[in-house]
Amino acid sequence: MTSVARRPAPARHAETEAYPGQRQPTTPPRSGGSHGPRARTRAVPPQKESGRASARVVLAVIALGAVAVIALWWHSTPDVRGLGGWLTGAGEVLGLLAGYGVVVLVALMARLPPLERGIGTDQLARWHAMGGRYVVCVVWAHALLIVWGYAVEAHTSVTGETAALLTQYPDVLMATVGGFLLLGVGLISMRAARRRVRYETWYYLHLYTYLAIALAFSHQFADGVAFVNNLAARFWWSAMYLTVAVLIVWYRFVAPLRSFARHGFHVIGVRQEGPGIVSVYIGGSRLDELDAEPGQFFRWRFLTRSLWWSSHPYSLSAAPGKDLLRITVKDLGDHSQALARLQPGTRVIAEGPYGAFTATGSGRGVVLLAGGVGINPLRAMFATLPGPVTLIYRASSTRDVVFADELDAIAAARGATVHYVIGSRAELGGDPLSPRVLRSLAPGLDEQDVYVCGPDGMTSAAIEALRAAGVPKRRIHRESFEF
Ligand SMILES: Cc1cc2nc3c(=O)[nH]c(=O)nc-3n(C[C@H](O)[C@H](O)[C@H](O)COP(=O)(O)OP(=O)(O)OC[C@H]3O[C@@H](n4cnc5c(N)ncnc54)[C@H](O)[C@@H]3O)c2cc1C
Repeated sequence: MTSVARRPAPARHAETEAYPGQRQPTTPPRSGGSHGPRARTRAVPPQKESGRASARVVLAVIALGAVAVIALWWHSTPDVRGLGGWLTGAGEVLGLLAGYGVVVLVALMARLPPLERGIGTDQLARWHAMGGRYVVCVVWAHALLIVWGYAVEAHTSVTGETAALLTQYPDVLMATVGGFLLLGVGLISMRAARRRVRYETWYYLHLYTYLAIALAFSHQFADGVAFVNNLAARFWWSAMYLTVAVLIVWYRFVAPLRSFARHGFHVIGVRQEGPGIVSVYIGGSRLDELDAEPGQFFRWRFLTRSLWWSSHPYSLSAAPGKDLLRITVKDLGDHSQALARLQPGTRVIAEGPYGAFTATGSGRGVVLLAGGVGINPLRAMFATLPGPVTLIYRASSTRDVVFADELDAIAAARGATVHYVIGSRAELGGDPLSPRVLRSLAPGLDEQDVYVCGPDGMTSAAIEALRAAGVPKRRIHRESFEF
């Protein structure tokens, strides 16, 4: 085990890391050079609105929308009679809620900057995944209740009613196909299935959601009691779908292309940081206009023959400069491995910045807790956060430690502390991130903000230990490298 603590000279806060002469380098800057000791101070926005408050506002707006949807059904249904009427009525409400739910699910993933920055992509993805399960269930409950209700009212069998609806109402047939597509997407997104398919396979199958929504759209107006005789409802419902469609096209396609044209992102160079870990330096102009913050990430699309078709998220591993960005990547699969072979001059589409894993500006002390490649966003924050900062860097072996020179130099420049906690549990003789150890590494831990980034298992265990060490939940900030 190695655990090194450094406590150099009195604190000097960091603001923006200086890049050499603020001009585009032709080769990547050397370790411990522009990205470390010459770090300069960066003003953190005063007490940003907390992510939790933004989350509550967004959830309240979604809930209000659901109430409005139920009011629409209430308004269009003067009276409900008999078992058939109740079944059909329940099916209609669920149908409206499903139609609203899919729009909310898509909007959460539309990469809207206020949501991405205020709430964070990982939280949005969790809501999307959880909401998706409910919406698929609501879609099928809607279909079953409607068919059952119609069958009761018409005194026919459920199978006979199903056959009649599918053969006589083309919109219903299309919506049924859409329902099966949604079910398929839901099944493949289940944890057990998701682990078995490649990320790209899952992602492209997920896009069938859009087809499912398009197929189901027309049956709402053709057959939905809330819309048939209500022009205003049809108008506002269409406006809701259209708005989200425009937002998707804008933020997923137009905005990244505009940013590409404006900033001219291109690879400056690649540097080996350790076994299987490389840093990619990306140049461009007027990058300060991106308003990127340390701790955030971009989705990077490298325009080479084999990489152009997919974009992957990587965090900034140094504070963004005016004309230079840096990411650091561990080779886990096809994409991350290919980055080691990038040639200078390769054009890049950078979509972002995304993520709410940024300084809160609370004025309290800060503890950064990194595991493995999770050091990247924390490395960028370490150089720039104001106030007293302690960095705890967990790695299973010294081979896995990157940026040691930079981290030591930053610590020396700003009077911060770095603890390297290295070795397996067996080598360390116990849990190296237990509440007791954490308290000893970061005195006054329970009074500070803690930022955690690492493998999901380590992050969850560390958060439990932090809670046990007395750190309130609201002061623990985490970034997940898995959506
Ligand atoms: C917010 C965020 C920030 C990240 N920052 C870093 C970083 O700074 N450095 C680093 O090394 N890694 C980072 N990652 C992880 C990195 O994105 C994946 O390791 C990489 O995309 C793997 O792709 P691959 O083709 O090499 O490997 P694969 O074997 O194809 O994928 C390995 C795993 O990576 C994930 N993944 C794959 N493709 C994507 C994708 N397009 N979008 C999202 N997840 C994907 C999946 O969970 C998959 O199971 C980050 C991930 C997220 C979500």
